[in-house]
Amino acid sequence: MPDQPTAAPDLVPPHALPPSRVVELQRTDARHGLEDAEAARRLQEHGPNTLPEPPRHSWLQRFGAQFANALIGFLLASAALAAVLGHWVDATVILGVVLINALVGVAQEGKAEAAMSALRDLLTPHARVLRSGAPQVADVAALVPGDVVLIEAGDRVPADLRLLQAHALRIDEALLTGESVVAEKSTATVAADAPLGDRAGMAYSGTLVAAGTGRGVVVATGVHTEIGRISAMLGAIEPLTTPLLRQINRFGRQLAIIALVASVLLFAFAVLVRGLHWLDALMTVVALAVGFIPEGLPAVITITLAIGVQRMAARHAIVRQLPAVETLGATSVICSDKTGTLTRNEMTCQRLVTACGKAVASGTGYAPLGRVELPGSSPPGPDLLQLARAGLLCNDAALTESGGHWQVHGDPMEGALLALALKAGLNPQAEHDRHPRLDTIPFDAAHRFMATLHALPAPQEGALLVVKGAPEQVLAMCANALLDDGRATGLLDEPAWHERIAHIAADGQRVLGFAFKLLPERPERIEAAHLKGLTLAGLIGFIDPPRPEAIAAVADARSAGIAVKMITGDHGATARAIAAQLGLARDPVVATGADVDATSDEALPALAGRAQVFARTSPEHKLRVVRALQSQGAVVAMTGDGVNDAPSLKQADVGVAMGHKGTEAAKEAAQVVLSDDNFASIVAAVHEGRVVYDNIRKVLAWTLPTNGGEVVAVVAALVLGLTLPLTPAQILWINMITATTLGLVLAFEPPEAGVMRRPPRPADAPLLSPFMLWRIVLVSVLFALAIHAVMLWGERRGLGLEATRTLVVNAFCALEIGYLFSVRYLHATSITWQGTRGTPAVLYAVLAVLVLQLAFTYTPWMQTLFATRPLGLADLLVAPALGALAMLLLEGEKALLRRLGWFDELRLAGPEGPGARAP
Ligand code: ATP
Repeated sequence: MPDQPTAAPDLVPPHALPPSRVVELQRTDARHGLEDAEAARRLQEHGPNTLPEPPRHSWLQRFGAQFANALIGFLLASAALAAVLGHWVDATVILGVVLINALVGVAQEGKAEAAMSALRDLLTPHARVLRSGAPQVADVAALVPGDVVLIEAGDRVPADLRLLQAHALRIDEALLTGESVVAEKSTATVAADAPLGDRAGMAYSGTLVAAGTGRGVVVATGVHTEIGRISAMLGAIEPLTTPLLRQINRFGRQLAIIALVASVLLFAFAVLVRGLHWLDALMTVVALAVGFIPEGLPAVITITLAIGVQRMAARHAIVRQLPAVETLGATSVICSDKTGTLTRNEMTCQRLVTACGKAVASGTGYAPLGRVELPGSSPPGPDLLQLARAGLLCNDAALTESGGHWQVHGDPMEGALLALALKAGLNPQAEHDRHPRLDTIPFDAAHRFMATLHALPAPQEGALLVVKGAPEQVLAMCANALLDDGRATGLLDEPAWHERIAHIAADGQRVLGFAFKLLPERPERIEAAHLKGLTLAGLIGFIDPPRPEAIAAVADARSAGIAVKMITGDHGATARAIAAQLGLARDPVVATGADVDATSDEALPALAGRAQVFARTSPEHKLRVVRALQSQGAVVAMTGDGVNDAPSLKQADVGVAMGHKGTEAAKEAAQVVLSDDNFASIVAAVHEGRVVYDNIRKVLAWTLPTNGGEVVAVVAALVLGLTLPLTPAQILWINMITATTLGLVLAFEPPEAGVMRRPPRPADAPLLSPFMLWRIVLVSVLFALAIHAVMLWGERRGLGLEATRTLVVNAFCALEIGYLFSVRYLHATSITWQGTRGTPAVLYAVLAVLVLQLAFTYTPWMQTLFATRPLGLADLLVAPALGALAMLLLEGEKALLRRLGWFDELRLAGPEGPGARAP
């Protein structure tokens, strides 16, 4: 103990004051917490427990940022050149393209950012706090000085706390101290000038609880915490970029370079060989380059991703990092834990086994309605009562009833044990009063047991140690078993007990073992030596049925060629039975954590591929299994919720944390958080991920050849010495209106049928598949031919050059619309009622093009700007006819290629489709 503080106590920092004094100074109560009303008042006084948000970019800044792009630079230079040369129309139209692009970009980014920050709000952290005498879950932002907060492994400490209690509490304070070793915590008081890393009695906001449990009183919130003082810049907004976006940007830059080189060559050819005036040649070449470069592509792809994020959130999968949207679509293996994700995590104790016999507990749910009965309806004897009592004492849960509905606070399994004790006729309050708890070893997934130490009721002087846990673990600590007359067996018949465990587990029930020991003395803490030579009270089997929606989702995943593996801490036999009920495999192959340990890194991939169930695993096993699967080229989605799951969540291609059950540590390591902890939501997110990827490919499949069509048409005219079918201004016009209308709608496409009946795309699949490359060439040539056919037709009808070109622009827009309808379905035919009807987005876009084209053709000022002429109805109708013809032709080609079986991706998805052969 340091010397008594000499300064006034409220000037002494809390780490230098004993806990009771801090409680007093904070005007609170260590066992009761603050009253709700007082907490509300203090919240008014101190403000919310949050750090100021990093400044956001203003609208104008984001608009400016759109111009920091090589492609845009090229366009601006072109506009400047056009202006200098007096081509005002071209200069204006190029500037129009750039401006519209920048505006669309800002809008997209705004939408994407809004989508992401809305998700952040869904992920507001919670803390467990004692208010008005009861533990509650509160928003971290609502904590106030004086609150009594409970922390446990995996939590982020929600505010600066003076610790009042600490059980094996260890906290990772690297954030504040840079120290990589976790700090041991206690309630000790240290010198006022002790450095931060030595203040054992404090838990600081933002640091991570690595192990144990604790309770502390809040001494500082928000900016007054240590972390608030150090930096207000925490949680800066991550840039909205993904591997795919980077790939697209790179691709755009490459295209720009190609465009530049080709432009120079084309210009030289036009002037030197074709004898065009250099000014006309230059403007044509610039317009072509502008058309060729897909400057709007990144913006469209961002919005496609943002829409994906929103659709996933609607299906309970909250994306924390944008790249997960793409990766989810490529997932080929989902590794899921069992309890609560594949099963309901609604436990009911059903079977009880002691050394002398078996009993069953009737009733379902947490309502204590039912009875514990031996065969022949006889009431439970002392052995069964002792078993039920062990379950009651070694327990941190609480049951509450409101309106006939019983609810668990805490671990559902422990809730079920409370219900069981009530059914057995025990009085929980009386039992707790008679056996006050002295110490606890909290449950942790590595050791798989929990132990509590209780004082024995007076006049006895000793203590009662109770252990519950995985039955093998508990058996290993026992020397004998309890008999129904209250005495113990001489020895423990281990093989017989293992058989009993396997018997209950084979029905899919989760089994727990219970043991106890009477200690003659009354120690303050549980020591390792106490955990030997226990008396086994018995086993309890819990039913935890599979979630019905998980059964359907497993079937969905398998038909989509995605392997589902269960990685659980539970017993192998229990896990196998549940896996069979879920349909993971007809006869699931089980590997245990011990099997994984016994397998070398070289041999593990084969085992990981073969087994559907990994039982009695620890977080380290998860990490090895993920790596082994990835070494085989699998794209792995992995769930996790504990503090030790962070490494495997990070290693997985998509780490998935549970929103309710998960610790803060797991949520932070994960890319996706499930707001309903449900396996079905992972499969739904994979489904949405596939749709996003499909839509991005559709955007490319539409954008590239439509740009290509113009280029081929104009270059062909130059090379062959034909009249140019489009003026530079007209080329720019087409790009401007179609890129901002038709180019956007594919982002909103609904899923195609059979999305989940295809195998997953290989992780290294190129964005442009062979089929798409073929399409780019075919459509470009087809469009170029159509344009020149219109030129010929116009000439034959004697329309004159201006009117013919007007018709060419109209026809080209119609061709783009026709192709849009075709590209909407890459995996099926587009000629269906649904395909023709389109989506609202498609219809609005087509309507917009229609109105703009009518204006382009018939309004006098547009006629002056773009050198257009009004067309007669008979001529104008050529455009839609061509559009329809293009669609029919391309659909015919799709059907033909599908028959020929040249391109894998065209194979129809169906029950006999490739995905049906899931591993
Ligand atoms: P999953 O990993 O699929 O969620 P799980 O819940 O069984 O499965 P863990 O929480 O790691 O995995 O638990 C492992 C084992 O430890 C359980 O099967 C059970 O035997 C035991 N166990 C779980 N919770 C407790 C507890 N509160 N007290 C004592 N033992 C427990």
